[in-house]
Amino acid sequence: MASPRRPNRLTRTPGPVRPRAAKVRYMGIRNAEDVDVVVAGGGPAGSTLATLTAMQGHKVVILEKEEFPRYQIGESLLPATVHGVCRMTGVSDELARSGFTRKRGGTFRWGSSPDPWTFTFSVSPRTAGPTSFAYQVERSKFDKILLDHARRQGVDVREKCAATGVIQDAGRVRGLAYVDAEGNQRQIRANYVVDASGNRSFLYKQIGSRQYSEFFRSLALFGYFDGGKRLPEPNSGNILSAAFDSGWFWYIPLGDTLTSVGAVVKKELASKVQGDAEASYQALIDECPLIKEYLSGATRITNGQYGKLRVRKDYSYHNMNYWRPGMVLIGDAACFVDPVFSSGVHLATYSALLAARSINSTLAGMIDEQAAFTEFELRYRREFRVFYEYLMCFYDLHVSEQSYFWNAKKVTNDSSSELEAFVNLVSGLSSNEKALTGSATLVQRFKDQANEFANAINESAAAEEFSMYRIFNTSVAKEAALEGTHIQSRAVLGDAAEPEKPLFDNGLVASPDGMHWSYPAS
Ligand SMILES: Cc1cc2nc3c(=O)[nH]c(=O)nc-3n(C[C@H](O)[C@H](O)[C@H](O)COP(=O)(O)OP(=O)(O)OC[C@H]3O[C@@H](n4cnc5c(N)ncnc54)[C@H](O)[C@@H]3O)c2cc1C
Repeated sequence: MASPRRPNRLTRTPGPVRPRAAKVRYMGIRNAEDVDVVVAGGGPAGSTLATLTAMQGHKVVILEKEEFPRYQIGESLLPATVHGVCRMTGVSDELARSGFTRKRGGTFRWGSSPDPWTFTFSVSPRTAGPTSFAYQVERSKFDKILLDHARRQGVDVREKCAATGVIQDAGRVRGLAYVDAEGNQRQIRANYVVDASGNRSFLYKQIGSRQYSEFFRSLALFGYFDGGKRLPEPNSGNILSAAFDSGWFWYIPLGDTLTSVGAVVKKELASKVQGDAEASYQALIDECPLIKEYLSGATRITNGQYGKLRVRKDYSYHNMNYWRPGMVLIGDAACFVDPVFSSGVHLATYSALLAARSINSTLAGMIDEQAAFTEFELRYRREFRVFYEYLMCFYDLHVSEQSYFWNAKKVTNDSSSELEAFVNLVSGLSSNEKALTGSATLVQRFKDQANEFANAINESAAAEEFSMYRIFNTSVAKEAALEGTHIQSRAVLGDAAEPEKPLFDNGLVASPDGMHWSYPAS
């Protein structure tokens, strides 16, 4: 055992994660090991990136603070994750065998229509294809499947190991300091450090500051039930989202009887919830007739991982930068919009795919670092932006109620400073976006998009057969579906997929196997 020694000035970056073991033994930089990629965090973002880089023969380590299975929120997935990224990592067959609830889409009591309407992942029920569904997952199970899969692909997964800071020199991040399961402080050097440590990350500060959203600023209070009602077939696996005066509820069927039920409300309710969460939760359920009815025969779970009520607030943010030489942010460590359309795990696994391509390309000497990571950042910002706009349109739909919550969620001239700040953030290097930052143009653009989307929903709901075609044809939905559809078709068709066009001027395209970037054929 090495004798205790002071940590090297270069390597010690204090952070909020404290070693949990009583006694910390310092293993100096002399003992640091060398790898290609070290990832902080073994959630969907971290395990996906680690798998996609290990599959290219790189030496990859994941440091995960917890021991899996561990609880996490974010249970409703999108098809691009299940049939796109998870197919590329090779875990989709195992997911299919795991008995997760199949989700054909979302059912909403939302907007001007008094009756619930259903948004499906297929254009019409008749054209539902083999990939027009996703899953509702217990995250403790889903995340463990992904992490164990990473291990089987050659990733060195170290649970109960908490990253405590970065090693850097000459302006480049060179590795991570961490505390291992026995309480030893260690260092690991790597060509690339990936921060995938989620919304509670502190490593992200090494790259830039976080900007919190005023528009999506809300609070979520959630718990679990046994025995809640299910939607009629074929939609029994759908997420049910129900708006009411104080906000909206999610109702997610995780199994035959297990149901995740969460209320998203205005942030002013924080003190009430912190005072007596049980009473607030019940009062919110009583306020929303549809959810109350669905839970009428159900029992609150009060033990095990689902036994307590949980609160999350101020969860919508975005980092000013996503990478710097030697280090990259993915998943919730970089950004999160809002729970309303299940975009969190999609953005986490999508950003992991983009960053893995950049790392694979630079380690193989195919593309220089600046070009590879600029492509990563532009695409990631674009995807964040399209979901941000899409989710704004969703909130804007709810025109019939005059409550404070819904008024605050409308795109008005008052929103302009928030919108400008947001577009400045996501615009980054893209001159097209910069042109939109005049506040009047911007607000008008959001209003036009929201109106187009609301009309499509209303027309579809009024039609004899609810047609997804109208909705998929709106500009905001088309944009949101674009990358997900590409990833899915590439994962399913492989080399037979159509050659990609660059998304940006002078941009890169994915290689035929999707694992690298390449220059587009001229
Ligand atoms: C109220 C609410 C509802 C949501 N609902 C949905 C939904 O229905 N669908 C959806 O797709 N998304 C949803 N999300 C978002 C979703 O939870 C996240 O987007 C998703 O979990 C992000 O995955 P990740 O891998 O980036 O981070 P995480 O899943 O948070 O994983 C990060 C991992 O890093 C580990 N870690 C943390 N610090 C360290 C450290 N210092 N060293 C090593 N390891 C560390 C953690 O233990 C954790 O395992 C919701 C979010 C909220 C707030």
